[in-house]
Amino acid sequence: MRLPLWAQTNVSIASEGPLLFGVDYYPDQTPEDLWEEDARRIAEVGFTNVRIAEFAWALMEPAEGKFEFAWLHRAVETLHKHNIAVILGTPSAAPPPWLSAKYQDIFEVNAQGQRLYPGGRRFTCPTNPTYRRLSLKIASEMARSFADSPGVVGWQIDNELTLGSSMRCYCNACQTGFQAWLRAKYHDLETINKTWGTVFWSQTYTDFTQIPVPLPSGGDPNPGLALDYDRYQSYANVSFQGEQLEMLRKVCPHHFITANNVGLLDTIDMRDLYRDLDFVAFDNYPGFFEMLLHQQSSAPVPPDAISALSAMGHDFARGAKSGKPFMIMEEQSGKAGQRSFGPQPEKGQVRLWTYQAIAHGGMGVNYFRWDTATSGAEEYWHGMLNHDRSKSPAFDEMQQTVRELKALGGEVLNSKYVAETALVFDYDCSWAVTIQPGHFSLSYLPQVQSWYGAISPSHSGIDIVGPLSDMAPYKIVFAPLQYVVSEAQAAKIRSFVQSGGVFVTGFRLGAKTDTSQMVRTPLPGLLRDVMGVTVEDYVPIYSAKQGVKFSAMLACPDATCTLWADILQTSGADVLGTYTAGAHAGKAAITANKFGKGKAIYIGGDLDVVSLSRVLPSLAASAGIQQLIDVPRGVELTARTAGGKQWIFLLNHTADAQTIGLAKSFIDVVRKETLNGKISLEGYGVRILQA
Ligand SMILES: [Zn+2]
Repeated sequence: MRLPLWAQTNVSIASEGPLLFGVDYYPDQTPEDLWEEDARRIAEVGFTNVRIAEFAWALMEPAEGKFEFAWLHRAVETLHKHNIAVILGTPSAAPPPWLSAKYQDIFEVNAQGQRLYPGGRRFTCPTNPTYRRLSLKIASEMARSFADSPGVVGWQIDNELTLGSSMRCYCNACQTGFQAWLRAKYHDLETINKTWGTVFWSQTYTDFTQIPVPLPSGGDPNPGLALDYDRYQSYANVSFQGEQLEMLRKVCPHHFITANNVGLLDTIDMRDLYRDLDFVAFDNYPGFFEMLLHQQSSAPVPPDAISALSAMGHDFARGAKSGKPFMIMEEQSGKAGQRSFGPQPEKGQVRLWTYQAIAHGGMGVNYFRWDTATSGAEEYWHGMLNHDRSKSPAFDEMQQTVRELKALGGEVLNSKYVAETALVFDYDCSWAVTIQPGHFSLSYLPQVQSWYGAISPSHSGIDIVGPLSDMAPYKIVFAPLQYVVSEAQAAKIRSFVQSGGVFVTGFRLGAKTDTSQMVRTPLPGLLRDVMGVTVEDYVPIYSAKQGVKFSAMLACPDATCTLWADILQTSGADVLGTYTAGAHAGKAAITANKFGKGKAIYIGGDLDVVSLSRVLPSLAASAGIQQLIDVPRGVELTARTAGGKQWIFLLNHTADAQTIGLAKSFIDVVRKETLNGKISLEGYGVRILQA
């Protein structure tokens, strides 16, 4: 029998307990006479691994072709002596000064056509052959040097590829790469000209070398070209990573290989990025979500708004590899940020965030970082040790959490997350809406986040799926702002609804083909029969306000729409809401159509958050979604199962104690106590129940 990954690596380096609870450690930034003390203290916490070296290129290759790994071997050996396994990071995110001084063509060119400069990190082009060659070279030398090191268990390729400074590179190498990618995709220019409709503005290409990248050009780019350019840039990064991956598989066949990224960004298709890696690893910094929400509004941020963003990040990452347990490679452990930084987590919050990751399908968590840097751009990114190397406020809490989680064991950590609901996240839609938002305030990710936030109080478990994922396992599938619909996706949706599924979608459905041309049939194009409506008109909202009055079935106070209204004409669908203002007053805004054995619901207006939070759970309930246990607002519930057992995670994201009524008896598997009737969950508290 093939053991799960963490167990395989665990057997090889530690006596018992899961492997992947650890901390990100920087021996390259720490005097060597402190390594022994660090390793001892890291082991005392109960950690099983560290990730190291992902930014240490300058120390590993101080001059071109001169490799120095002796220091890193000493660090790995010191850690291994204390039974701490090592995940090595390849250092391509931060090329050293000798490299950027010698090779002047490696720099990223941003969307304004400006070249980036060295001095930060990730200032490089993913296509540039020199940068790729030198990145592969240092990674290969590293791999050869550490392939048989007993302390090393796995690799992280690069760091945060999804977090480029300008998200896209527009340099000459990328233009050439784009042209080659187009040749492979379309084969000939005639197909490209037809697919993009280049006859508009006299853009017919007669040679591949004429095809530009979407830099400023006195007018907007062709939408088909722009969408393909986003796809190319995603591909360029995936293939950049792929070179290191292919090498590591050959040189280090016994090590696992992953990458670390900021998950909830649309820069690179994460499903492509992680396809050939062993598991998904990513960052979780709830403090950033809090800062971001404060930037958007001065109103107090409700705790469940922040927790929903973290939860969505976890669900997104788990979905990127079809439900496989993931790892948090960087979990917030203190005040985090660079020029500005978030607040110190409240007592209990770091433990809560750690359990939230496990509750959503995590198998391991590494905290960022061990000691807080005393120099460099991240001096205020607080770790487990303060600048004076004393314990941070959350140090003991992390120690307690790691011990609890190790005691939970592999059965829980490799169990399956249970989801009855799916939410579609489609990179094509995100990119196409960014290219042509229709309304300057409309963008894809915030819409998907709003829908996630509205659905999550149903506590049904949410899988975040791609446009072509199998929808059969779900009772209800939500697909907001599904602007691009391919024929293959339309067929999937049709078959899901026909077989009894409930499909809920929103305005702009199917307005674009997957080549970003306009659909030539009445909207919603390929899904007109499934939805049972025709879009009579689509209306961005500016001065003329719009609202929605709900039917008795939804029974909510009127909603306001501030961005968009699709005006619907029904052909068999029931009307669940009508517009209230202007020329479209009384016309259908929300419809539900019976199709086959299922139902297709169209929400034509961008409902305000409060209304969306009433409507979507109500639709979920009508699709048969039932809560396992009733929990108050601010308490999150998820479930994981394995071998006929089920674990229910209760997570209190509020500062106040909450009371929860249980209809039957449960065991709290952390506290090892039997629970009946009313139970209390302390502020930021966690319980894991087993029936
Ligand atoms: Zn480039």
